[in-house]
Amino acid sequence: MSARQVIADLRELAARTSTPDGAQRIAWGPVWRDARAWFAERVAALGLRVETDAAGNNWVTLPGTSPKTVIVGSHLDSVPNGGWLDGALGTMAALEALRVHADARPPVTLKLVDWADEEGARFGRSLLGSAAAAGSLKIDEVRSLQDRQGTRLVDALAENGVSLDRMHEAHAALMAMDARAYLELHIEQGPVLESMRKPTGVVLGTFGVERHMIRFTGQAAHSGSTPIPMRRDAFLAAAQTALECRAIGLRHSRPGPGGGVVCTVGVVNVEPKIVTAVPGVCEISLDQRALDASVLAAMYQDAREASERCARDNDVRVTWTRIWSIEPRPFDPALVRLCEEAVGEETGDAPRLPSGPLHDAAEMVPHMPVVMMFASSSNGLSHCKEEDTPEAHLETTIRAYLRLVDKTIAHVAAA
Ligand SMILES: [Zn+2]
Repeated sequence: MSARQVIADLRELAARTSTPDGAQRIAWGPVWRDARAWFAERVAALGLRVETDAAGNNWVTLPGTSPKTVIVGSHLDSVPNGGWLDGALGTMAALEALRVHADARPPVTLKLVDWADEEGARFGRSLLGSAAAAGSLKIDEVRSLQDRQGTRLVDALAENGVSLDRMHEAHAALMAMDARAYLELHIEQGPVLESMRKPTGVVLGTFGVERHMIRFTGQAAHSGSTPIPMRRDAFLAAAQTALECRAIGLRHSRPGPGGGVVCTVGVVNVEPKIVTAVPGVCEISLDQRALDASVLAAMYQDAREASERCARDNDVRVTWTRIWSIEPRPFDPALVRLCEEAVGEETGDAPRLPSGPLHDAAEMVPHMPVVMMFASSSNGLSHCKEEDTPEAHLETTIRAYLRLVDKTIAHVAAA
């Protein structure tokens, strides 16, 4: 059974590239290169070969009778002390899809991709290879990146035969493909499917993100001598805002697939940070996420209004600085339907859910129809050595993914 083969491959890869602390396939490093060399041997066993694009992404082509192309893949790189499934599951399942079709010439061309540096674990820029291929990478924004040892990204790339200034050529290469679909299998990395007792889910798209720092400025004062009504306490304004943001998130969450939203205050900085002083300055981060762009915009607007109200209540001023944002990337309705069919035929049910984390798939959305499939994550854990999925769930999900590939080939061939 081919799903079992994928799991055996995953276990072998984990054994070769992990320590007792977990997977160590950090992009641009020696263990990652070993993983890719091992993968290339697997590819060679099918009579195929790996080609590397200008951004370091690895491609394997199984030519079909038509140049119309279905892309399958994920990433082999991991975070330090990472899990055995993040990225590897999708890459090995994609290889299995090629293996299944390698004997007879498929009606459309199948391409496998192993994206370079999805995690951004060493230099802090996630989705590096797929962003270059998508044409969304701004080279000058990453030129000065260094790792903790002071090694520059440019030099780490060069060590792997990649020139930063030529990475954009990967975009032209992608555009030259007649790509009609991108299919990525991944672990959920969260607790939703497990809580529903489901092995497999259909992914509706990746959340949009609004990420800001909110700075409240009041007046530092003596904690003993300043009566409460006369204070300008920046922390209380921030705390009140954080609570309101949670209420805003709950208010904008709708029942049903894709209706849930999240928001998080993950950073709190307070000044002067003295037990006997009223905080004069408080800065908090706010990360808001939703699948629906209008919902995300409304959450952001509501949070701004709430922060201004909380600032007035505490007689402080508030300013907002955007750190980062990305619009929601909904997946292709026709491919979502095929994914529902595939998952339903294999498991009897097809739960739909959004993806909170970003994935390489999000970078492909502007350029071709995309869908993702999730396997459940045990205890919702990922990016750690405890990352796991029950083997029966993995088998079911891999079989559903291979069904999705077949359905997509037929769908693209008929179009
Ligand atoms: Zn991943």
